[in-house]
Amino acid sequence: MCKVIAVANQKGGVGKTTTALNLGVGLADKGNRVLLIDGDAQGSLTISLGYKEPDRIEVTLATLLSEIMEETEPSISEAIIHHAEGVDLIPANIELSALEINLVNAMSREVMLRSLVDTIKSDYDYIVIDCMPSLGMLTINALACADSVLIPVQAAYLPMKGLEQLMKTISRVQRRLNRNLVVEGILLTMVDCRTNYAKDISQLVIDTYSDQLHVFDTTIPLSVRAAEISVEGASIYQYDPKGKATAAYRTLTEEVIKHA
Ligand code: ATP
Ligand code: MG
Repeated sequence: MCKVIAVANQKGGVGKTTTALNLGVGLADKGNRVLLIDGDAQGSLTISLGYKEPDRIEVTLATLLSEIMEETEPSISEAIIHHAEGVDLIPANIELSALEINLVNAMSREVMLRSLVDTIKSDYDYIVIDCMPSLGMLTINALACADSVLIPVQAAYLPMKGLEQLMKTISRVQRRLNRNLVVEGILLTMVDCRTNYAKDISQLVIDTYSDQLHVFDTTIPLSVRAAEISVEGASIYQYDPKGKATAAYRTLTEEVIKHA
């Protein structure tokens, strides 16, 4: 059975794309068939996997979603890129922002991505969706088709307000669109273990949420090497096999598999 995981937080720059990429490749390393979906018009996941000019890619998530809106057969096999690290990718580019605007007037606008995912689910063990930093229509689509949502939280600022808003959106989606949606967990990212501030934030997240939600035991340390992979076109396992963030993403992968 395929598990669909949306990586979401409307706060920008918290490690969503880095997590989607390295969780995806980590799951593939364990022998799973993995599809990554870039759900952000910035195409950061697409770029991070080495496709430096996403706007030149012709068939992307926007193409597939517009085909679904027009009730034509989506050109899935043309869109899927097979990456050398053993994951498949449905890329995204700037066209996704125009698509998101068109989606607003479409019938069943919240479940377009679900229609797409339903047609390809049987080919994969995991589908990981990298969401954009907003709670707009595409993020709602991702939540509406996901089995779980993984929430990266940067341990360097007070995340509580943003998290409350995200939880409200998740509850709304659970009530109206997807009763099966669960929170996979909150993942603390960019944890600078040297500072008390990072420790305080981590503790605050645990104190506030751990009785209602899973907070991953694994935390992702702040790492310059992790920051560099977005321009390297490879996962952290390739780029920095012995690094501490690499080890953390490996442990996270195991936690996600165990949690299934
Ligand atoms: P956006 O909201 O813009 O989509 P995001 O939530 O997807 O951002 P990333 O792009 O994964 O976040 O990360 C934001 C920045 O922080 C990037 O430059 C990335 O390389 C860097 N980064 C990610 N993880 C770490 C880490 N563990 N240590 C240091 N830097 C990191
Ligand atoms: Mg991103």
